[in-house]
Amino acid sequence: MYPLKYEGDIYRPPSEAKSLILQATVGCSHNRCTFCGMYKRKKYRVRDFGELEKEIIMVSRMMPKTARIFLADGNALSIPFEQLSKILSALQDAFPQLERVSLYGNPQDLLEKSVEQLRELKKLKLGIIYLGIESGSAAVLKDINKGVTPQQIVEGASGAKEAGVPLSITVINGLAGAEGSEEHAKETAILLNKIDPEYLGLLSLMTVPGTTTHRRFKEGLLTPLNPWELLKEIRMMVEGLSLTSCVFRANHASNYLPIKAVLSQDKDRLLAELDQVITKKAPGSLKSEYLRGL
Ligand code: SF4
Repeated sequence: MYPLKYEGDIYRPPSEAKSLILQATVGCSHNRCTFCGMYKRKKYRVRDFGELEKEIIMVSRMMPKTARIFLADGNALSIPFEQLSKILSALQDAFPQLERVSLYGNPQDLLEKSVEQLRELKKLKLGIIYLGIESGSAAVLKDINKGVTPQQIVEGASGAKEAGVPLSITVINGLAGAEGSEEHAKETAILLNKIDPEYLGLLSLMTVPGTTTHRRFKEGLLTPLNPWELLKEIRMMVEGLSLTSCVFRANHASNYLPIKAVLSQDKDRLLAELDQVITKKAPGSLKSEYLRGL
């Protein structure tokens, strides 16, 4: 492995498993979502450029053929445009075979960058933004303290679309409990149709002790969905989707039924498969580790 010292735990999307990970920020600039405990122990800051540049040069000597780089932490897209441009330029200079740089972003970060700036970042090989929207429902977004409205999410995402930077959007299955499941699914489909992302990733809610969401479930203010209800929620969302060419994945460790589909061509097949699993309640089709206690 490369000799990098990371501050605290590092998270990355499953699809970045083979990428070199550089920590450009520490923590998350928002850090207030009620379900998220990932960066609670970190105080957000953008890392000093000089310090990061030294790391880039050192790693490039050891791994000169690196083609893909993921910039951690929580939302490296929060880095102001000038500094992010400097980081991307330094990466291009250091790694001659660099194909793509990716990072996590919040909808707020997109709203803070102009289309022109996003175009510049794309020229510097920003190749994909992993955008956590979690839900398309105004009520759910408010409840989880996401800090943005559906309308703001659409505005931010449309800037990336206009600049030609692909978006990989994350939604959380089961986030609103049984009480808000239908609204969460239907409103998320409506929002996704407005954004029309290139990629869509679905995670299942895993409540984290110490978070407000965990407490709400524990106190009975929200009712957790069982695996079949989670699948019904996915079905409701998929049914409402009408996307141009979106790769849909629900193959994270948290998901009960691994799904991979291109929605424009596989939607009917996916709905039929979901129906089959839901109506038969066929445990063999779900990951065994999640079936204990059913
Ligand atoms: S979900 Fe994303 S934006 Fe919200 S606190 Fe966690 S890392 Fe930050």
